[in-house]
Formats: sequence, C-alpha cells, structure tokens
Amino acid sequence: MPNHSTAPVLRFAPSPNGRLHLGHAFSALATWRAADALGGTALLRIEDIDTERCKPEFVAAIYDDLHWLGLNWPSPVMLQSQRLDVYARAGDDLREQQLLYPCFCTRSEIAALATQTDPEGAPLYPGTCRHLHRGEQIERLERGDPVQFRLDTSAAMARVGLLSFSVVGPLISDRPQLRYARPERWGDVVLQRKGNPSSYHLSVVVDDAAQAITHVTRGRDMEAATDMHVLLQMLLDLPTPIYHFHRLILDDDGRKLSKSKGSPSLASLRAAGWTQDDVRRAVGY
Ligand code: GLU
Repeated sequence: MPNHSTAPVLRFAPSPNGRLHLGHAFSALATWRAADALGGTALLRIEDIDTERCKPEFVAAIYDDLHWLGLNWPSPVMLQSQRLDVYARAGDDLREQQLLYPCFCTRSEIAALATQTDPEGAPLYPGTCRHLHRGEQIERLERGDPVQFRLDTSAAMARVGLLSFSVVGPLISDRPQLRYARPERWGDVVLQRKGNPSSYHLSVVVDDAAQAITHVTRGRDMEAATDMHVLLQMLLDLPTPIYHFHRLILDDDGRKLSKSKGSPSLASLRAAGWTQDDVRRAVGY
C-alpha cells in the first residue's frame, strides 16, 4: 500500500556502532536536501538494537557531527533500543500467521550445507529447520538451546503474491518507477533471536511505519535489502514508502567507506581542520 497522501517525512537512521564518516555525511546531506526539495521534514532515528556494538557515546557523537554539518531534526529522537516490546509484537504477529519458525543451526552448519549465497555474499540458509517436527521444536526450546527465529519466506510470498514498490531517482522529484521485489534472494532471514526480539529488517519496517516515513533515502548498497522490507510491510499490513537509492562514497580503491576498514571519521577530519564546506565538496555537494 503506497503512502502518498501525507506530508513528506524522511529519515536518516544511523547505527551508533562507531563514528560517522564521509559516507554517512553524504547520506545525511542527501536526506535533508531531499526533504527540503519535497517541502517535508527529515527525522533522525538511532538504530541501536545491536547492544554489543552500539554505544551511548556514539549516539552523542552522531548528534555532534550532524549539528556540525548544520543539520537539525525534531525531538524526541526515536531510539530503537527503547522499542523492543513493539518489535516483539510484530514478531508475534508473524508467529500467529505461522510464518516464523525456530532454527537451531549454527553458523558453521549453515556454511557447510549452503549451496547458494544471498545478495551480500553470505551463505544462503538451506532451510534445515523449516520443517522440524513440532515436538522437537518444543523440546529444544524448553532445553534452552540457542535459537533464532526465521521467516518462512516462500510461505510468506505465497500469501502476498507479486510485490512491487516505487523508486525515485536520481532526483527525489523524479517520477517514481515501479520495481518488482525479489525477497526470495534472501531466503529465510533471521528476524528474532533468543533474548533479542528484533533484527535490522524487522525494526526498520516497523519504525518507518511508526514515523509515517513517506520517502526512504538510503545508499545503493541497501537496494537488495529493500525487497525483504517490502515483503515484511505487506505481511504486517504497513505502508510501503517511496524509495530513493543514492550513490555511495568510495575510497581511493573504489571500496565503500566503512568503519571497519578504518575510513577517517568526520571527527578526525574536523580535528585536522576540515570545514563543513570541505565535507560538502569532498562528497560532491
Ligand atoms: N541503520 C542502517 C545503517 O546504518 C541504515 C538504515 C536504513 O536505511 O534502513 O546502515
């Protein structure tokens, strides 16, 4: 169900698992620029469900870096770590639809059995636990075996039929083009784990709906993930925003900037004397 009737609302949704770099700066600037072009609002959302990697000091640093770039957003800021009960309910909804099943496979078991890869190159889950006997599921759950809950993607797709969504670009004001979603490329994704009622895919669709996001601006590296989001939106009866996939900022070797590859943070560039204009120029704004 496309969401066209309301005022444009966009969002920038970083994960506070490190300092922001030029890639984030570009994504944030693109989001605020698109909001201006549409006469809408840009919100900030902190995607901090991964409690092992996300840290409060990185949340504070995100606020600092974005303010330094001259960006402002309405309060209060949505923090995903405060919404675990909402994601748990979305998981229950899928469970009631019999679309979530417990999986007890370890990473190495999956890697040994997988014959295909997902769009990110990870081993595609071969469906080992999809048809586990109910008695075995209960026994293993009661025993406390480590468990994750997966979406039965083929069953889910059989319920919703052909899936499509609207994509705009290169400009946000361009005419939307219809695109078909192919969530089956991801196989049976993990949506919940023991002790963690959410995952990136689940929380992002729940929150885009909760914040009435009309346009999602995100990097091209997230195009494939969007297919899974469109499926989850249909299953959870949530609106599908319009999507805009922006270019990526690459390093000198043509690789996407990333915290793990040691791309310089905005803070370090600022400390080295960079101005906001230097940042804008470096990302092509
Ligand atoms: N939190 C995600 C990230 O930092 C992006 C959110 C999204 O666009 O869905 O990569």
